[in-house]
Amino acid sequence: MLVVKKFGGTSVGNRDRIFNVANRCVEEYRRGNDVVVVLSAMGKYTDVLIEMAKEINENPPKREMDMLLTTGEQQSVALMAMAMASLGVPAVSLNAFQVAMHTTSVYSNARLKRIDAERIRAELEQRKIVIVTGFQGVNKYDDYTTLGRGGSDTTAVALAAALHADKCEIFTDVDGVYTADPRKVPTARKLDFVTYDEMLELATLGAGVLHNRSVELAKKYGVQLVVRSSLDMSEGTIVKGGHKMEKMIVSGVAADTDAARVAVIGLKDEPGVAFKLFNELAKKNINIDMILQSVGRHGTKDITFTCGDEAADEAEKIISEKMEFESIDVNKDVAKVSIVGAGMQSNAGVAAKMFEALYDANINIRMISTSEIRVTVLIDEKEAERAMNAIHDKFDLGDHR
Ligand code: ASP
Ligand code: MG
Repeated sequence: MLVVKKFGGTSVGNRDRIFNVANRCVEEYRRGNDVVVVLSAMGKYTDVLIEMAKEINENPPKREMDMLLTTGEQQSVALMAMAMASLGVPAVSLNAFQVAMHTTSVYSNARLKRIDAERIRAELEQRKIVIVTGFQGVNKYDDYTTLGRGGSDTTAVALAAALHADKCEIFTDVDGVYTADPRKVPTARKLDFVTYDEMLELATLGAGVLHNRSVELAKKYGVQLVVRSSLDMSEGTIVKGGHKMEKMIVSGVAADTDAARVAVIGLKDEPGVAFKLFNELAKKNINIDMILQSVGRHGTKDITFTCGDEAADEAEKIISEKMEFESIDVNKDVAKVSIVGAGMQSNAGVAAKMFEALYDANINIRMISTSEIRVTVLIDEKEAERAMNAIHDKFDLGDHR
């Protein structure tokens, strides 16, 4: 059996934790399995590197930024290989260049295009544990790229797909996927399994457990994931296709405080305006989330949308340069709160129940958007935690033990 195991920063944050991971991998190896390990940078080291860069240059060139950030993962894989060697187990660390993980050219937000599996296979053939840097790739200019914050999950799933692994385990500092973030909602309950679609919505909405592109990839290639704790032996949450056995209408509540609302007032009410606006933003790689267009009046209309906090300033600048309008308003003190559940598709009244929970808690809704298995509201950021708890209670998602 071939197993891909991914460990996040906390799981390799210090010497003891590195040996804890090494031992877990060696155990798997001694059962006769092929083991590929994907690691993040130690602890919050990626943040440390970002700080270092900012001390030199407030606005560092993106290529150089990736050159710097990829060193974090290179440290952790090398140290892990040394730990395994000291345990008497043959191991080899490989970076994105050595594996050959090809990505698109966009620095800091590259996408994996193709992975050459030969080197890894050759090392496994010699009964080595192969330890691969997460988060990084190489583009067509032979430059390092990174996959976006939290991207090591995506590296792991892509490797599992490329190697046709039998198992892909994502080890983290929580023991699985919860109905809500347990730090914010004390009654949150661990889920035994979620579907790809639910996980995708939850990941995108800031549930924080998995990089959303890793779930997209897992779904595309049918890689079954297990999210579990690196610190204990609990079973974790399985992420897979198919339908839910337990007829849960709502599986989870998520909040994302990295949201900003941009309202553009008094745009011309004529064809092509929305296209022009969002096309200008797309050219600068600004990801838009919710969109609302008002009914036109006196030949003008308003368009309101949400994006990440950081993107909002850039969006404001681009719009001011490229568009004709009366005024623009940016509000970063907003948060998205969402409910997700595959069972929603076949049940009426789910959105109404969520809105009722917010009404009961006297929380004002500023925007609403939905998908087949999700309802999202935009509210004031300071209300986010209270909203999550109110909704979680309303749908009775908690642990009753
Ligand atoms: N080290 C990178 C980050 O902190 C990638 C990861 O941890 O997945 O974002
Ligand atoms: Mg992560």
